[in-house]
Formats: sequence, C-alpha cells, structure tokens
Amino acid sequence: MSEQHKLRDFVAEFTRLIDRNLDETAILAEGRELVARLVAEDDWLPEAYAQPNSKYYQQYLLHADPLERLSIVSFVWGPGQRTPIHDHTVWGIVGILRGAEISVAYAPRPEGGLEIGPEERLERGRVAAVSPTIGDIHVIANAYDDRPSISIHVYGGNIGAIRRSVFDPVSGAKKPFISGYSNSAVPNLWDRSKD
Ligand code: FE
Repeated sequence: MSEQHKLRDFVAEFTRLIDRNLDETAILAEGRELVARLVAEDDWLPEAYAQPNSKYYQQYLLHADPLERLSIVSFVWGPGQRTPIHDHTVWGIVGILRGAEISVAYAPRPEGGLEIGPEERLERGRVAAVSPTIGDIHVIANAYDDRPSISIHVYGGNIGAIRRSVFDPVSGAKKPFISGYSNSAVPNLWDRSKD
C-alpha cells in the first residue's frame, strides 16, 4: 500500500492548524509536533521528490495552500551541498527525514554585516525552526560528503515565490532572490483508489 496518505494527512492537519489563526509562537509549537511526527517515518516521500542533482540542492514543492498561507517543501542536498546564507521573512519549520544536516545561524549586526552564531548538527528526526522573531538567517548544509540528505520544510507562505535575501559571507551585503521550486508538478495526494 502506498504510504502517501501520511503526507495527505499532514497537509490536512497543518491546514487545520493555520485555520485557527494562532500567533506565530503557537503555530511553531504545534507545527513542530506535526513535522516531528511526519519525519519520524521515512516511507512516504515519492521517489521523484527525493532525487538529488549533481550541481544544485533541490527544493521540491510538495503542497501549497491555495491561499498561500503555507507551503511544504522537500529539500534534497547532494553530497557536500549547502545553501547560501539566506533569510525567509516568514516562519519556517525544518524536519530531517534522511541523513543529517548542519545549520549555522547568523544575526544582523546593528552597525551592518552579520554575526555568525552557533552551529548545530541536526540528525534524522530532529526539528528546527526559523522566523524573523526567533532568528531568520542561516545556512543549511548536508552533514555528509558521501550521500544525500533530505529535510521537509514547512513555511508560513509560498516560500518559492517570496522575495527574500541572500547575504555575502564576507561583507554581509544583501542581495534579493526568489528561490522558485525545482519541480513543475506536485505529487497527486488525492487518488484514493489504492488506499
Ligand atoms: Fe532556510
């Protein structure tokens, strides 16, 4: 039996959470629990959304809320791949599905530039959060240089369409970017004929 219902159930549960119009702290608290449950099992992500690319890390949209209050993305890092220093401008929850990741936080200095913060190793099953209120700038890297790692991200907006920033590691200078997505079709969660 396909385990795709796990992602469908997660979409429904997170949509119900968003519908309650809670503040960010409450969304992050309850949302982290939902993400932790989703990544506790690694049998539901369709293969097409788990494929690394030799050049770039991949960001596959799995689901977007029709009102763009929410997006769910599978990030696939090939061996040794990493993001640039970037922000999100909305809350985000990251759960490690496969492999392990290194997250390095950055904070803007009042006089300009960036202060490097603590580095954290996120093992399989771990959940982390970002947002403009709790710290929004980071780098995520695959902890492995010999295998891919995959994490599932949930954002409080249509993350691939949001105008946000990447930062120069030396000067801290900001450059606008819109990430887009690596896929052109989302998984069909709604064919229940094989349930
Ligand atoms: Fe990020």
